[in-house]
Amino acid sequence: MGGAEYSLSEGNSNGFIEYMDHGNLTEAWGYTSPKSLTTGLSKVSISPIAAQNSKALFLTMAHETGHAYASFLGLGRSLIDLKANNIGWEELADTEHFAIYKLENFTALKNNIPIIGKLSTVRLDSFFRRLSTTERSSISSIYEKLLPIFDRVMK
Ligand SMILES: [Zn+2]
Repeated sequence: MGGAEYSLSEGNSNGFIEYMDHGNLTEAWGYTSPKSLTTGLSKVSISPIAAQNSKALFLTMAHETGHAYASFLGLGRSLIDLKANNIGWEELADTEHFAIYKLENFTALKNNIPIIGKLSTVRLDSFFRRLSTTERSSISSIYEKLLPIFDRVMK
């Protein structure tokens, strides 16, 4: 299976990881580098705030491992036009993230973890229904491939 190296990263004053995303300084719970061409491994950085409690850590690890596995499998991602689809949630800007957020909700529900500060399943589903057939089928295909990462019970 896909590989990743995990490390606890230094956070900013709020405990989040900061990185540049398309020229914008972004705060995140975790960050996954693209896979290395020599080792095939991604580097996953976990923020101090995510490491503070087991539920946040579980969801963050699942989210980032989802990215690492998608990178390992070489799944393509395409951008979603959030404006055209009237989706006011920046993080759903590509098909991989859309699939990962759906999966995060799936695993949260399975593990009885509240989705605080994140998208509810109801809203996520309502956004999903606004997308084109092509977008929905590419999200569903990524969802199916990454499902084994998220179909697990927190120990
Ligand atoms: Zn992400």
